[in-house]
Amino acid sequence: MVDLPPLREVIARHGLSASKALGQNFLFDEQLLDRIAAVPGSLERKRVLEIGPGPGGLTRALLRAGAEVTAIEMDRRCLPALSELTIAFPDRLRVIEGDALRLHHNELMGGEPFAILSNLPYNVGTALFTRWMGGETWPPQWTSLTLMFQQEVAQRIVAKPGTSAYGRLAVLAQWRAHAKLAMKVHRSAFTPPPKVMSAIVHVEPGAMPEGVSARVLERVTEAAFGQRRKMLRQSLKSVPGAINALEAIGIDTQRRAETLEVCDFVAIAHTLS
Ligand code: SAM
Repeated sequence: MVDLPPLREVIARHGLSASKALGQNFLFDEQLLDRIAAVPGSLERKRVLEIGPGPGGLTRALLRAGAEVTAIEMDRRCLPALSELTIAFPDRLRVIEGDALRLHHNELMGGEPFAILSNLPYNVGTALFTRWMGGETWPPQWTSLTLMFQQEVAQRIVAKPGTSAYGRLAVLAQWRAHAKLAMKVHRSAFTPPPKVMSAIVHVEPGAMPEGVSARVLERVTEAAFGQRRKMLRQSLKSVPGAINALEAIGIDTQRRAETLEVCDFVAIAHTLS
């Protein structure tokens, strides 16, 4: 590994005070960053997309792990610090200035498979996650997602039926993918520390059930969990054919959304698709 100046020195030299508006909470602990970079398994010569490298803490860990990194950063102030990293790793790091919500990730990665790792800005994390997990095309071009979330959001992603955390995010994350909570990260690990605890979620694509439209499934879960305290016969009224589908599959219409397994939602969507 090339000898790099300590991150804190880089931040001080470039005057990179954390911006609240951009959801900036930086990580400096190299051991922690290496553990995060190890979650997807070996990254040696693998293509990785990183969203929000900031001053480059996780980026350095990804480079230490041997990855070929494309990093999207929208804060211009971070670019001079990142270009020092690009100079040190000209063949393995490409930094793109822009808003990750507006860029086409598959195209950026040249149509090749890639892993996504990110200490996500909290304000855009769920939007990006929903986009990566959505759409009719499956398997996706990404091979895994390793993402930092607020712990409460991470728990919603991996939640099981019958819990208050179980809802749309859980169904979205679990109906054709495997999602697990890989590690918890204490708020004190960040500079500045956020108000809440964080956690890393790791997701790998699984098989997509045949004959199910992702859009229809999304519509069903939106309606069912939109009124989660109501019985399904009430909450699913707005979805044409849904009550008949429940009866055809043999799901009691007096049940509430949070009592249904992910496969029950898939069965409803299959009948409607
Ligand atoms: N990866 C660094 C680390 O772990 O220390 C910084 C993480 S910080 C929580 C989030 C980073 O995402 C910031 O650098 C912020 O500028 C950047 N960011 C925020 N919104 C973004 C967006 N829409 N597209 C790309 N980057 C964004």
